[in-house]
Amino acid sequence: MFANGPSIRLLPRLDDDNRFFWTGGKDGVLRFLKCGSCHQLVHPPVPVCPACLGKDLAPEAVSGRGRVHAYTVNHQQWIPGSEPYVIGLVEIVEQPDVRLTTNLVDCESEDGLIGSDVEVTFEQHDEVFLPLFRSVDSSKESNS
Ligand SMILES: [Zn+2]
Repeated sequence: MFANGPSIRLLPRLDDDNRFFWTGGKDGVLRFLKCGSCHQLVHPPVPVCPACLGKDLAPEAVSGRGRVHAYTVNHQQWIPGSEPYVIGLVEIVEQPDVRLTTNLVDCESEDGLIGSDVEVTFEQHDEVFLPLFRSVDSSKESNS
């Protein structure tokens, strides 16, 4: 069993561009900027679409489902006694080239992690809601 992340979180600095992303967990919804011109999801949040240079970007809710593209286990004890945890690169089902570097939580083992289906879960730190991901199967068990 791995820990759900580092024992001390480095939190993002909120600004007008990224606030919607880091606070979206308040209503349990993961959102990305979507370009009104070329309909690409854009991440990280920027004022101009990198694909078509359009400026018509607005937050759009996504399903919160994703797939583990890659992961690594952090064994470095930045804090003495802290447990290993899993850093995952998760691709969003709506657009797999949108990837989040995140933590995989409720993770029992590394078996079958690559390519597995995950869904977002939020960890709140004051006004920031960090989007973390857990396996779709284990979330079914804990919800029942
Ligand atoms: Zn665009």
